Amino acid sequence: MIFFRNHNRVIPILFFTLFFLTACSSGKSPAGPKEMPTPDANVTPMPTTGPTVTVEPAIVKSTEYNISDADSSTIEDADDLIVTEPVPDLPAAKVVVLDPGHGGKFTGAIYFGRQEKDMTLQVANYIRDYLTANYEDIEVYLTRETDIALDPDIKIELEQRAVIAKEHNADFFISLHFNASEDHALHGATVYASFRDNVGEASQGIAASILKELVALGLKDNNVKTRMSKDYFAEDGSRLDYYAVIRHAALRDIPGVIVEHCFMDNETDKGFIETSEKLQALAEADAEGIAKYLELKAKE
Ligand SMILES: [Zn+2]
Repeated sequence: MIFFRNHNRVIPILFFTLFFLTACSSGKSPAGPKEMPTPDANVTPMPTTGPTVTVEPAIVKSTEYNISDADSSTIEDADDLIVTEPVPDLPAAKVVVLDPGHGGKFTGAIYFGRQEKDMTLQVANYIRDYLTANYEDIEVYLTRETDIALDPDIKIELEQRAVIAKEHNADFFISLHFNASEDHALHGATVYASFRDNVGEASQGIAASILKELVALGLKDNNVKTRMSKDYFAEDGSRLDYYAVIRHAALRDIPGVIVEHCFMDNETDKGFIETSEKLQALAEADAEGIAKYLELKAKE
């Protein structure tokens, strides 16, 4: 900072008084720094009667940074300025809705004192924590946060899970489950995806990415599978997906998958679910599969 000690002080005082009176008469108080405003390199001073700022139309999601709101106070204070710099496109956060399978009276499979509904909720929470802690531009929601059925009627219950995904504007719907087989002999990981044209590519893509991470943990690879319904048809007569949550998600243009992590009733797979740490490892595999498919940027 430089001080000019020997100059005549009358001119600056007159200038300041004039500025103060002008500010008062226009009904605004001189807010902020006492210095005269210095034109910024990014703005061109010019008189205008039109709108003061042009913002490119952008898709605004609830947590997105809204430029027009954030800048409104600045623009109001500088009503003789036009912002001429283009507004950069901000990356849109991806929205993933995790669906902890079953809940409440719908327990899912029960083996060795473990209930599927509890394990799926635990895994969902681990996935959410892991993704939001480690990656940028990701929003994660759960279809249920507690041990509840979303509806007493199972048909409505399953559709409700896709309804919730749609309410969150989900980019992906991931339903979490554990398997079992009649003779308890089957083992390994399977991820079911949609075959429908509107979501099939994304659904099968993220399914393969998740399955790859689960297989890397040592689980048998039972493949990505699609399954057609014999009972449900679209308006054009074409077949819909067999599994309700995938079908209802696809009907709402959301790529959905069902992750059957492993078989709860099988001796070989038991070792993958016997502790919370093991469930966390499964969840991290799911999360890494999701992050890689979405090409999420790791946090610094
Ligand atoms: Zn299940």
